Parts: sequence; structure tokens; C-alpha cells
Amino acid sequence: MSSTINGAGPLLRAVGLSKHFPLESSLLASLRGAEARTVKAVEAVSLDVYAGQTLAIVGESGSGKSTLGRLLLRLTRPTAGRVLYKDKNIFSMKRGELRAFRRQAQIILQDPYASLNPRMRVGRIIREPLDIYREGSRAERDRRAHMLLERVGLTSAHARAYPSELSGGQRQRVGIAAALALSPEIIIADEPTSSLDVSVQAQTLNLLSELQRDFNLTYVFITHDLGVVQHFSDRVAVMYLGRIVEEAPTEALFAAPQHPYTQVLFSAIPLPDPTRRVNWDLPKGEPPSPLDPPSGCHFHPRCPKVMTACSAIEPPLKATGPARRVACLLFEAEADLPQTKGD
Ligand code: SF4
Repeated sequence: MSSTINGAGPLLRAVGLSKHFPLESSLLASLRGAEARTVKAVEAVSLDVYAGQTLAIVGESGSGKSTLGRLLLRLTRPTAGRVLYKDKNIFSMKRGELRAFRRQAQIILQDPYASLNPRMRVGRIIREPLDIYREGSRAERDRRAHMLLERVGLTSAHARAYPSELSGGQRQRVGIAAALALSPEIIIADEPTSSLDVSVQAQTLNLLSELQRDFNLTYVFITHDLGVVQHFSDRVAVMYLGRIVEEAPTEALFAAPQHPYTQVLFSAIPLPDPTRRVNWDLPKGEPPSPLDPPSGCHFHPRCPKVMTACSAIEPPLKATGPARRVACLLFEAEADLPQTKGD
């Protein structure tokens, strides 16, 4: 989907992005007389991220959303496809270009305790990216680290603390300050609040919102929490078993979700309380294994609107309105559907 918002093209684009993880060597598979088994964690994903906006990527555990986030930052290489940052493929960037991209694109992780070096004091953790990029003098780097600490609601006194001496919310603020150190343009936030208490979640989301406004940040927000999505994002991409099944502006999606999967999920959201969680078990049955996804539409064994054709045809992601796409045969013209047994 290539388009513009206010005349500006996307800052970051995924084009036909796939990531498959082999589960066995091709030698082992040939001994079995079969093809090597793979998990298709991300399959043929195309999406655009616009400057200054928040794109939420939502999905159940195992939907591939975190792998997609890692691909967008070149933390893992794709099996197929490209990621374009300002029209340049990040997977073919030369060393200097990659170094420039890495300072512009940062990540905030879910578990701030696991992501912060326990042997480093907080001031050093925030200063480290500046040290790596040799930004200014040591005194200037320290000053910036202290300024960032205060900007995320901590004090200079926290600079001497170790992560273990801080609360979960304070540790996540340190992670946010470290992500901001190099003044990035885009931040991938992977479940940044899901390990925090509900009251701390709201404060952290407010902080991220303020920082976006003040620093003109672009966010890709990976989450399973639709309450958070509604209050935080401009657009939403819904993932199911490695594929995007629906993408739309947040308001339009919440007003009228089109994909049966999104509809079932949204029917469970206790609006307007953003602190309540959606029940991801709601679609009947457990999500199928990505190792052996169902034929046709991967959602068909759980879909309340399943038709005969759904187990045979994989629905393409198609435009259904302004900036909206959905992958469901209900949106295919009847004449376009091949006749299948039983129709
Ligand atoms: Fe349901 Fe069929 Fe649409 Fe898949 S293609 S979501 S099974 S109606």
C-alpha cells in the first residue's frame, strides 16, 4: 500500500516482508523425504509508517508482531521482502548508512529489567548510546543523560542507581530515556507497558504521548492491548498467524471493524476504560500452530462467518475504503471466487 499523508510519503515501509524460521536442516528433511519444516512467523507483510504518527500492530501471542518489529529495525534479516527507510532498503545499507539508520530508529522493550544491563548505573545506561556514537565531550554526554532522566520524570539522583534499585515503572522510564539519547525519529515500542501495574501503565503511556509531541517522534506500537491501541494510535494493523488481516485508521477500525477476527476481538473490549484487557481467547479455540497453519484463510477454523471457500482460498489483503485494507473472502466479489467443492 503506497500512499501519502498530507502529501508526505511514508517514513518507513515494509514491502512483501517475510520471515521463516527453519525447524530442521534440509539434510534431515531429505532423509525424511520431505521439505524442511519452517515456521512462517511473518508472511508477505506490506505496511507504511508515517512521520509523527503511531502505527499499532496488534495480535495474539504467536501472531508474528514482535518478529515484524525486529525486522523493521534490521535486528533480524528477512526471508523475503524489503524495509525502506526514507526510500532506502535497510537490508542493503552500507556500514555508514546503517550506522545513521541505527541512531534514527530505536526500540523500547517490554521487560525493562531484562533489557537494562544490571551491572551498569542508570546514568551510564543512558549515556552509552552517546558514548558509542562519540557525541560531544564526556561532560556533555553526562549533561544530556541527566537532562533525559529529568525529561522522563526521574531525577539526577537516579543516575547513580542500579536498575535493581528501581521500580518497574522507573526502569521503563530509564529504557525510554536510553532510547531517546540519540534523538531518534522512530521508536518501535514492543509491549512497553504490559509488564507494568495498571496505574503505572497509564503514566507511562502519558509520558510516551508527551514525548511524541515534544520530539515529533514516530511510533510503531506492538501490543495485544486494544484498549491501549484505541487511546494511543493513529492507525492499526491487525495480525493473525504472521499476516496482516486488517489495517485501518484507529477511529474507523473501532467504529466498524471489518474482518471477522477483528470483530470478535472488538466485541469483547470494555470501552471506554483503557485499563481493561481484551480477552484474546474469545475466538473459539486456540490459535492454530504457525508450524502447520490451516489451509486457505488461516482463521477459518475459528471464524464465525466461515464459508465453504474459506478453507481453500487464501484471501488477499484488499482496499475496502480510504486507507483501509482487509483480507477476507466476504469482501471479494462473488464472481471473483473460484467454485469450490460444496458450493
Ligand atoms: Fe472468515 Fe472466510 Fe473471511 Fe476467513 S475468509 S475471515 S474464514 S469469512
